[in-house]
Amino acid sequence: MLQYLRISVVSLILSINLRQACNLVGTSIQPTVLVHGGSGNIADIKLPKIRLGVKRAARIGHDVLQRTGSVLDAVEQAVNSLEEDINFNAGYGSALTYESQVEMDAAIMHGAQLEAGCVSLVRDIIHPITLARRIMENTRHRYLAGEGAMRIAAAEGFDILPKGALVTTASLESLAKFKKILNKTGGSNSYGSPGTVGAVAVDACGNVAAATSIGGITGKLPGRIGDSPVLGAGTYADNESGAVSATGHGESIMRFNVVSRVLALVHHSNCTIQQAAAQVLGEMTKRFNETAGIIAIDHRGQLGIYFTSQRMSWAYQRGAELHCGVDPDEDEFENVI
Ligand code: ASP
Repeated sequence: MLQYLRISVVSLILSINLRQACNLVGTSIQPTVLVHGGSGNIADIKLPKIRLGVKRAARIGHDVLQRTGSVLDAVEQAVNSLEEDINFNAGYGSALTYESQVEMDAAIMHGAQLEAGCVSLVRDIIHPITLARRIMENTRHRYLAGEGAMRIAAAEGFDILPKGALVTTASLESLAKFKKILNKTGGSNSYGSPGTVGAVAVDACGNVAAATSIGGITGKLPGRIGDSPVLGAGTYADNESGAVSATGHGESIMRFNVVSRVLALVHHSNCTIQQAAAQVLGEMTKRFNETAGIIAIDHRGQLGIYFTSQRMSWAYQRGAELHCGVDPDEDEFENVI
């Protein structure tokens, strides 16, 4: 317990340090929160609820950013709202393993000090992204999985739900469908459970943060971990380049190190973040014949939204403008003030 209290004091100092000194004179970055709700073949029938969910999350994140000035709070709370939404594959709404269990992964990162927290294989909590943040702030490690992560959840006072509380009728139906396809195809063409969620944010000083949370892929083997919680694969943030959250074929995203390649291109070439996203995802899709999508914000506030999958839901708020899309080249716009 004493050790835990000592770590909490350290975490207070850490959170103060995370706010990079900011001289606003001469900056023209508009604080922005950009979210995604997963990539893949999203069925038409699901679109109205998906659009609503991503727009709500972008607005919540933006509101938090305006009120607290914290990009970390903004991405965490934007993702929290998607973890609570049954229409996404994260928190409540998570996909099931082959054995009908929920095993969730998440990562959160702040670009000022490259501070990060990651969790894998956690169960019976609604907000894995908040647990990832607690691990970053209140432990001497940056990545915990399974039982060890669940102990931190209990110590941090998370509501531990009764076993099976996160299993929904929809996730059971998807698993049954997956097993049928698996039997027919013997494993090929059986990937997919769109609905991973993620958020990236930038403040007026160029501080960036990223967060990604996922319930896993339907029918995965117990213990499987995807790209989402792996820094540099599915999640990364660095004030010297930008913040990225990925979604799509996790095994390929990890092997290709997608988000670190995007940020490296931005850092070491004249590429815009959108060009970098298109180049890296194009190459990944060519190499592995699998698809993915990313949302990204560079440290100057430029946005990157790109996917090689059929669809990816996304939304962002910047000032009074709320933008949203699902299909390639779609950009639906509304004024929210
Ligand atoms: N990238 C996720 C994973 O493989 C899946 C997804 O985003 O659709 O765990």
